[in-house]
Amino acid sequence: MPLDEYRRKRDFRRTPEPDGGEPHRTRRRRTGRDGGGGRFCVQKHLASHLHYDLRLEYRGVLLSWAVPKGPSLQPVDKRMAVRTEDHPLEYGDFEGVIPEGYGAGIVMLWDRGAWTPEVDDVDAALEKGDLKFSLDGFKLKGSWALVRTRDRTGTAPRRHGRNWLLIKHADFWSGPIDIAEFAPLSVKSEGDFDDILAADMPDLWIAGRPATARGNGGAAALTREVIERAARKILARHDAAGGRPAGSPRKRSSGRRPGRGPAAG
Ligand code: MN
Repeated sequence: MPLDEYRRKRDFRRTPEPDGGEPHRTRRRRTGRDGGGGRFCVQKHLASHLHYDLRLEYRGVLLSWAVPKGPSLQPVDKRMAVRTEDHPLEYGDFEGVIPEGYGAGIVMLWDRGAWTPEVDDVDAALEKGDLKFSLDGFKLKGSWALVRTRDRTGTAPRRHGRNWLLIKHADFWSGPIDIAEFAPLSVKSEGDFDDILAADMPDLWIAGRPATARGNGGAAALTREVIERAARKILARHDAAGGRPAGSPRKRSSGRRPGRGPAAG
Protein backbone atom coordinates (compact mmCIF):
# COMPACT_ATOMS: atom_id res chain seq x y z
CA MET A 1 0.00 0.00 0.00
CA PRO A 2 1.73 3.14 -1.17
CA LEU A 3 0.16 5.43 1.46
CA ASP A 4 0.69 3.18 4.50
CA GLU A 5 3.68 5.13 5.75
CA TYR A 6 1.89 8.44 5.19
CA ARG A 7 -1.08 7.28 7.27
CA ARG A 8 1.00 5.62 9.98
CA LYS A 9 2.77 8.90 10.74
CA ARG A 10 -0.39 10.94 11.19
CA ASP A 11 -3.42 11.09 13.48
CA PHE A 12 -6.15 12.46 11.23
CA ARG A 13 -8.21 13.55 14.24
CA ARG A 14 -5.41 15.98 15.01
CA THR A 15 -4.16 17.17 11.64
CA PRO A 16 -6.02 19.00 8.89
CA GLU A 17 -3.97 17.13 6.28
CA PRO A 18 -5.97 14.93 3.87
CA ASP A 19 -6.12 11.26 4.80
CA GLY A 20 -6.06 10.12 1.19
CA GLY A 21 -9.38 8.29 1.39
CA GLU A 22 -9.92 4.69 2.34
CA PRO A 23 -7.09 2.31 1.50
CA HIS A 24 -9.23 0.38 -0.97
CA ARG A 25 -9.86 3.56 -2.87
CA THR A 26 -6.18 4.02 -3.51
CA ARG A 27 -5.94 3.02 -7.10
CA ARG A 28 -2.92 2.60 -9.20
CA ARG A 29 -3.62 4.77 -12.11
CA ARG A 30 -1.78 6.64 -14.72
CA THR A 31 -2.52 10.22 -15.49
CA GLY A 32 -1.18 12.53 -18.08
CA ARG A 33 0.38 11.02 -21.10
CA ASP A 34 1.38 7.41 -21.17
CA GLY A 35 4.57 6.94 -19.19
CA GLY A 36 3.72 9.25 -16.32
CA GLY A 37 3.58 12.92 -15.62
CA GLY A 38 0.74 14.87 -14.14
CA ARG A 39 0.53 17.48 -11.46
CA PHE A 40 3.37 18.64 -9.30
CA CYS A 41 3.57 20.93 -6.31
CA VAL A 42 6.13 22.37 -3.95
CA GLN A 43 5.06 23.04 -0.38
CA LYS A 44 7.13 25.40 1.73
CA HIS A 45 7.00 23.85 5.18
CA LEU A 46 7.96 25.70 8.34
CA ALA A 47 8.33 22.84 10.82
CA SER A 48 11.26 21.88 13.03
CA HIS A 49 13.28 22.98 10.00
CA LEU A 50 12.23 25.15 7.10
CA HIS A 51 12.21 23.06 3.92
CA TYR A 52 10.47 22.69 0.58
CA ASP A 53 8.57 19.50 -0.27
CA LEU A 54 8.64 18.65 -3.96
CA ARG A 55 5.84 16.29 -5.00
CA LEU A 56 5.30 14.65 -8.37
CA GLU A 57 2.05 12.89 -9.22
CA TYR A 58 2.71 9.34 -10.30
CA ARG A 59 0.53 6.24 -10.30
CA GLY A 60 -2.11 7.71 -8.06
CA VAL A 61 0.15 9.20 -5.38
CA LEU A 62 2.54 12.11 -4.99
CA LEU A 63 6.17 10.99 -4.97
CA SER A 64 7.85 13.27 -2.43
CA TRP A 65 11.24 14.76 -1.64
CA ALA A 66 12.06 17.22 1.14
CA VAL A 67 14.51 19.84 -0.10
CA PRO A 68 16.04 21.68 2.89
CA LYS A 69 17.39 24.64 0.93
CA GLY A 70 14.62 24.66 -1.65
CA PRO A 71 15.00 24.44 -5.40
CA SER A 72 17.65 26.51 -7.14
CA LEU A 73 17.45 27.79 -10.70
CA GLN A 74 21.24 27.63 -10.96
CA PRO A 75 22.59 24.38 -12.44
CA VAL A 76 25.73 24.62 -10.27
CA ASP A 77 23.57 24.29 -7.12
CA LYS A 78 22.90 20.66 -6.43
CA ARG A 79 20.25 20.73 -3.75
CA MET A 80 19.94 17.89 -1.29
CA ALA A 81 16.52 16.24 -1.64
CA VAL A 82 15.52 13.57 0.86
CA ARG A 83 12.95 11.11 -0.45
CA THR A 84 9.97 10.97 1.91
CA GLU A 85 6.81 8.92 2.04
CA ASP A 86 4.35 9.06 -0.85
CA HIS A 87 1.52 11.51 -0.21
CA PRO A 88 -2.13 11.31 -1.36
CA LEU A 89 -3.04 13.29 -4.48
CA GLU A 90 -5.28 15.61 -2.46
CA TYR A 91 -2.19 16.81 -0.65
CA GLY A 92 -1.29 18.73 -3.78
CA ASP A 93 -3.84 21.42 -2.83
CA PHE A 94 -3.08 21.45 0.87
CA GLU A 95 -2.09 24.61 2.65
CA GLY A 96 -2.63 25.21 6.34
CA VAL A 97 -1.47 24.75 9.88
CA ILE A 98 -0.56 21.40 11.43
CA PRO A 99 -1.07 22.14 15.14
CA GLU A 100 0.96 19.28 16.57
CA GLY A 101 2.39 15.88 15.81
CA TYR A 102 4.23 14.80 12.68
CA GLY A 103 5.19 17.76 10.51
CA ALA A 104 3.77 20.25 13.03
CA GLY A 105 4.07 23.74 11.64
CA ILE A 106 2.78 25.73 8.69
CA VAL A 107 2.46 24.47 5.13
CA MET A 108 2.37 26.94 2.24
CA LEU A 109 1.54 25.88 -1.31
CA TRP A 110 4.57 27.55 -2.83
CA ASP A 111 4.28 26.32 -6.43
CA ARG A 112 2.13 24.03 -8.52
CA GLY A 113 1.64 23.02 -12.10
CA ALA A 114 2.35 20.06 -14.35
CA TRP A 115 5.38 17.82 -14.72
CA THR A 116 6.46 15.68 -17.63
CA PRO A 117 9.07 12.93 -17.53
CA GLU A 118 12.01 13.30 -19.91
CA VAL A 119 12.61 9.57 -19.73
CA ASP A 120 10.70 6.73 -21.37
CA ASP A 121 10.26 4.71 -18.19
CA VAL A 122 9.70 6.52 -14.89
CA ASP A 123 9.81 3.31 -12.84
CA ALA A 124 13.18 2.40 -14.32
CA ALA A 125 14.45 5.95 -13.78
CA LEU A 126 13.41 5.88 -10.11
CA GLU A 127 15.00 2.49 -9.67
CA LYS A 128 18.18 3.68 -11.32
CA GLY A 129 18.11 6.91 -9.34
CA ASP A 130 18.21 9.31 -12.27
CA LEU A 131 14.91 10.95 -13.15
CA LYS A 132 14.93 13.70 -15.73
CA PHE A 133 11.77 15.74 -16.07
CA SER A 134 10.35 19.13 -16.93
CA LEU A 135 8.19 21.37 -14.79
CA ASP A 136 5.57 23.86 -15.85
CA GLY A 137 4.67 25.69 -12.67
CA PHE A 138 4.22 29.32 -11.72
CA LYS A 139 7.76 29.55 -10.37
CA LEU A 140 9.62 26.46 -11.49
CA LYS A 141 9.86 25.73 -15.19
CA GLY A 142 12.04 23.94 -17.66
CA SER A 143 14.22 20.88 -17.34
CA TRP A 144 15.32 19.31 -14.03
CA ALA A 145 16.87 16.14 -12.68
CA LEU A 146 16.60 14.18 -9.46
CA VAL A 147 19.70 12.04 -8.97
CA ARG A 148 20.10 9.60 -6.11
CA THR A 149 23.42 9.88 -4.33
CA ARG A 150 25.57 6.89 -3.59
CA ASP A 151 24.92 5.24 -0.27
CA ARG A 152 27.59 5.84 2.28
CA THR A 153 29.86 2.92 2.77
CA GLY A 154 28.63 0.72 5.53
CA THR A 155 24.99 0.82 4.48
CA ALA A 156 23.45 -2.23 2.95
CA PRO A 157 24.75 -2.28 -0.62
CA ARG A 158 21.52 -3.14 -2.38
CA ARG A 159 19.25 -0.90 -0.41
CA HIS A 160 18.61 2.48 -1.91
CA GLY A 161 19.29 5.43 0.32
CA ARG A 162 16.86 8.30 0.63
CA ASN A 163 19.26 11.00 -0.41
CA TRP A 164 18.93 12.55 -3.82
CA LEU A 165 20.06 15.79 -5.46
CA LEU A 166 17.68 18.19 -7.19
CA ILE A 167 19.44 19.84 -10.11
CA LYS A 168 18.27 22.44 -12.61
CA HIS A 169 19.42 21.81 -16.16
CA ALA A 170 20.77 24.81 -18.06
CA ASP A 171 18.00 26.16 -20.27
CA PHE A 172 15.89 29.26 -20.82
CA TRP A 173 14.48 28.92 -17.27
CA SER A 174 17.77 28.56 -15.42
CA GLY A 175 19.68 31.55 -14.10
CA PRO A 176 21.13 33.45 -11.14
CA ILE A 177 17.85 34.25 -9.41
CA ASP A 178 17.21 33.15 -5.83
CA ILE A 179 13.69 31.97 -6.59
CA ALA A 180 12.86 31.28 -2.92
CA GLU A 181 13.69 34.88 -2.05
CA PHE A 182 12.32 36.39 -5.25
CA ALA A 183 8.97 34.59 -5.03
CA PRO A 184 8.41 33.67 -1.37
CA LEU A 185 4.60 33.65 -1.20
CA SER A 186 1.81 31.16 -1.67
CA VAL A 187 0.43 30.44 -5.14
CA LYS A 188 -2.86 29.47 -3.50
CA SER A 189 -3.61 32.26 -1.01
CA GLU A 190 -0.89 34.68 -2.16
CA GLY A 191 -0.01 35.11 1.50
CA ASP A 192 3.02 34.45 3.63
CA PHE A 193 3.29 32.06 6.58
CA ASP A 194 1.84 34.63 8.99
CA ASP A 195 -1.22 35.13 6.76
CA ILE A 196 -1.83 31.39 6.68
CA LEU A 197 -1.46 31.25 10.45
CA ALA A 198 -3.62 34.32 11.06
CA ALA A 199 -6.42 32.63 9.14
CA ASP A 200 -6.14 29.44 11.13
CA MET A 201 -4.39 29.95 14.47
CA PRO A 202 -4.64 26.67 16.40
CA ASP A 203 -6.01 26.93 19.93
CA LEU A 204 -2.90 25.08 21.05
CA TRP A 205 -0.68 27.84 19.70
CA ILE A 206 -2.75 30.51 21.47
CA ALA A 207 -2.36 28.67 24.76
CA GLY A 208 1.38 28.23 24.38
CA ARG A 209 4.18 28.15 21.88
CA PRO A 210 4.31 24.99 19.77
CA ALA A 211 7.32 22.74 20.17
CA THR A 212 8.65 23.97 16.83
CA ALA A 213 8.93 27.50 18.27
CA ARG A 214 11.13 26.48 21.18
CA GLY A 215 14.88 26.50 21.18
CA ASN A 216 17.49 28.52 19.38
CA GLY A 217 17.30 27.10 15.89
CA GLY A 218 16.60 29.32 12.89
CA ALA A 219 13.27 27.64 12.25
CA ALA A 220 12.22 28.11 15.89
CA ALA A 221 13.07 31.81 15.76
CA LEU A 222 11.26 32.17 12.44
CA THR A 223 8.23 30.37 13.87
CA ARG A 224 8.14 32.76 16.84
CA GLU A 225 8.30 35.74 14.47
CA VAL A 226 5.55 34.29 12.31
CA ILE A 227 3.34 33.70 15.38
CA GLU A 228 3.86 37.30 16.52
CA ARG A 229 3.09 38.71 13.10
CA ALA A 230 -0.01 36.50 12.83
CA ALA A 231 -1.17 37.59 16.29
CA ARG A 232 -0.86 41.25 15.24
CA LYS A 233 -2.90 40.53 12.11
CA ILE A 234 -5.58 38.81 14.18
CA LEU A 235 -5.71 41.79 16.57
CA ALA A 236 -5.91 44.23 13.67
CA ARG A 237 -8.78 42.21 12.26
CA HIS A 238 -10.57 42.35 15.63
CA ASP A 239 -10.13 46.12 15.74
CA ALA A 240 -11.41 46.49 12.20
CA ALA A 241 -14.40 44.35 13.11
CA GLY A 242 -15.28 46.68 15.97
CA GLY A 243 -13.48 44.97 18.80
CA ARG A 244 -15.38 41.74 19.01
CA PRO A 245 -14.36 39.52 21.89
CA ALA A 246 -11.00 37.89 21.56
CA GLY A 247 -11.05 34.56 19.88
CA SER A 248 -14.18 35.09 17.83
CA PRO A 249 -13.07 36.68 14.57
CA ARG A 250 -14.12 33.61 12.65
CA LYS A 251 -14.58 29.98 13.34
CA ARG A 252 -12.26 28.65 15.97
CA SER A 253 -10.10 26.19 14.26
CA SER A 254 -7.42 23.75 15.13
CA GLY A 255 -6.97 20.22 14.02
CA ARG A 256 -10.49 19.67 15.27
CA ARG A 257 -13.15 18.57 12.95
CA PRO A 258 -16.67 17.92 14.18
CA GLY A 259 -17.54 14.28 14.29
CA ARG A 260 -14.01 13.12 13.73
CA GLY A 261 -13.09 12.11 17.22
CA PRO A 262 -11.86 13.87 20.32
CA ALA A 263 -10.53 17.37 20.08
CA ALA A 264 -6.81 17.89 20.05
CA GLY A 265 -5.06 19.03 23.16
MN1 MN B 1 7.60 18.64 4.97
